[in-house]
Amino acid sequence: MTISVFELFSVGIGPSSSHTVGPMRAGADFADELRELPSTVRAVTVDLYGSLAATGRGHGTFAAVLLGLEGNRPETVDPDDVEKRGAEIEVTRTVYVGGRDEVPLCAEQIVLHPLTVLPRHTNGIRFRAELADGTTHEAVYYSVGGGFVERESGADTVDPLAGSPGVPHDFDTAAGLLETCERTGRTVPQLMLANEIALHGGPSEVAEREVRAGLLHIWEVMEACIERGFRAEGMLPGGLGVKRRAPGLYRRLVDSDGADAMDWLNVAAMAVNEENACGGRIVTAPTNGAAGIVPAVLYYALKFRSSLAARREQVVCDYLLTAAAIAVLYKRRASISGAEVGCQGEVGSACSMAAGALAQVMGATAAQVENAAEIGIEHNLGLTCDPIGGLVQIPCIERNAIASVKAVNAARIALHGDGTHRVSLDQAIETMRQTGADMLSKYKETSLGGLAVNVPEC
Ligand code: SF4
Repeated sequence: MTISVFELFSVGIGPSSSHTVGPMRAGADFADELRELPSTVRAVTVDLYGSLAATGRGHGTFAAVLLGLEGNRPETVDPDDVEKRGAEIEVTRTVYVGGRDEVPLCAEQIVLHPLTVLPRHTNGIRFRAELADGTTHEAVYYSVGGGFVERESGADTVDPLAGSPGVPHDFDTAAGLLETCERTGRTVPQLMLANEIALHGGPSEVAEREVRAGLLHIWEVMEACIERGFRAEGMLPGGLGVKRRAPGLYRRLVDSDGADAMDWLNVAAMAVNEENACGGRIVTAPTNGAAGIVPAVLYYALKFRSSLAARREQVVCDYLLTAAAIAVLYKRRASISGAEVGCQGEVGSACSMAAGALAQVMGATAAQVENAAEIGIEHNLGLTCDPIGGLVQIPCIERNAIASVKAVNAARIALHGDGTHRVSLDQAIETMRQTGADMLSKYKETSLGGLAVNVPEC
């Protein structure tokens, strides 16, 4: 499977890539399928399984699916319209499938199966449509983390370990990536750039320009999210009573002379995750719940390292390409889905991505990048997913701040070494996969264990 950097960093909406972005994409894909059929749609049923059913309410899954069925997509939908249109549907109890066929459906009618896990993944969605000509059309989708969706059916089934013809430097292990760097004399971002250019129809100057412009746009959206989070006061939605803290901290940092770099890391990460919790415009990195870490570390690097700020565009591209190369390894060899392997797959992967990417732009060798990424995941192994009330707020927001600091430290440790180290990134990723497989499902985005059951919601 070829994974593009623009799939790993995709523009969407909060609060969850697997529970909001993925379900909206699945709904829109199903609506596209229906549009191809010769008959109009009379009725649609939606069944949610596993983690989507258990925590879908707090993650905005129901409105996401319904708006997806109406043809909305996370990359273009206006975040402000989601809540408004979701509320309208609950009053009228009808949706316009594909923006065309009016059918009776609302959140209350979505059938939940929290204790049933479909064979392929815990985030399952089954759509069934009755058509005016008396036939039916059915499809099962899986939201597999990071906003990626897979449809259950032979041709569309994707094997995450399959090879990637069509790119010049395919790799699915860190060892393979290092070997290719060694053999070609290229850096990690140079290899990723060549792959991405090929995916854009290159090699050509036009394709390279497109890729670079796309990466800079991703950073623009990330930076705008940080800036919005610095200024948006108030309470987070969902009834947990959590106040947005980034604006207060931001004001104190601006007013004080000797603000510590660590405070800026914290505030940038929290700003993104508070925006995410409010359903704002977010870039998956590699998921929404963990979306604060990659931008916060880049924000820190550009703010506190003048040598990096002076080469801003190159640094942004190299940073995002390196982070994406590391994310590919997690996606292929383990998982970036909290519902599949716990928070180690979300915040752990993001910490590893940011650590390796920061090391890269600070001049690391490929071996040091791999070392930084390994340190970034090693100390997140075993991290469970237990969001209180099924909301992406506690522990998620602070956890992004903590992991951002950890990522910077991981890069610093790696840069003080020569790249040789005892535990390889491949071994750490495999450990993460095995730990996730052994983790009880109550710790995998079901809100049935951990903080979610030990802290009263109100
Ligand atoms: S605890 Fe981690 S994996 Fe779970 S929702 Fe929060 S950020 Fe995502």
